[in-house]
Amino acid sequence: MAKDPVCGMDIEADQAAASYEYKGKTYYFCAEGCKNKFAEDPEKFLN
Ligand SMILES: [Zn+2]
Repeated sequence: MAKDPVCGMDIEADQAAASYEYKGKTYYFCAEGCKNKFAEDPEKFLN
């Protein structure tokens, strides 16, 4: 189980709509839109 860092939704990694690698860690997202928000400013969502 992974957590979408943008909206906080719990998602299965293999069912994620999108993934993004940042600083050696892979993050999973419920939707392409969440990934795009994260990619713009990852630190904002990791704090
Ligand atoms: Zn999301």
